[in-house]
Amino acid sequence: MRLDKLLANEDFGSRKDVKKLIKKGSVQIDGEVIKDVSHHVDPTQSEVVVNGHVIDYREFVYIMLNKPKGVISATEDSRHKCVTDLLDPFYDKFNLFPVGRLDKDTVGLLLLTNDGELAHHLTSPRKKVDKIYEATINGIVTEEDVQAFKEGVTLDDGYFTKPAQLEVSETTDEHSWVIVKISEGKFHQIKRMFQARGHEVRFLKRRQMGSLSLDEQLPLGEYRELTERELDQLK
Ligand code: URA
Repeated sequence: MRLDKLLANEDFGSRKDVKKLIKKGSVQIDGEVIKDVSHHVDPTQSEVVVNGHVIDYREFVYIMLNKPKGVISATEDSRHKCVTDLLDPFYDKFNLFPVGRLDKDTVGLLLLTNDGELAHHLTSPRKKVDKIYEATINGIVTEEDVQAFKEGVTLDDGYFTKPAQLEVSETTDEHSWVIVKISEGKFHQIKRMFQARGHEVRFLKRRQMGSLSLDEQLPLGEYRELTERELDQLK
């Protein structure tokens, strides 16, 4: 990457500002002052220091968001607030995107990254990454429903789902609280699976995706970067 581009990306000013900075001799690469603005540098391999400040360059960023209701899993929309609007403007330069989608009214774990390879790994149907949701369902979820989820149900478009694990935690006369584990990610999949069994989903929250669990300390709408351990386990 060109040195002037790197510094502009790292918020050291406009392309014009950073050119001045470089020509002034304020930038060192691996201990050597570089005054050539078009000098090519690999910031993952070299230490770049600007006025004594070491650049903490990162190519990829991984954020766990506890998605609240009312925002959509997209990066841009003319009418709705997007999940990326919840992030500090510091993250703008990384061009983060959500890994998979949660419906506007679904809450919980959403990973945001700019690592296309990891995103593909987590969302490719062939990888069969498990997703765990907790849900509140209208009506009483029965043992027959549990069995049907295990065998697969036919959705409204004729698609027959892969085996899913359904666990009923509690029921009252009106509602059931359940945990569902699915390994695919069709549009509105959980809602449509319950619809196929004559039930309506009142509340849906994603708790887990692959090895990554929602940090329950994160309030709705808050986020944090993944720890190294979480990332290693996910890859
Ligand atoms: N299934 C749904 O129906 N909605 C979601 O947001 C996620 C899974």
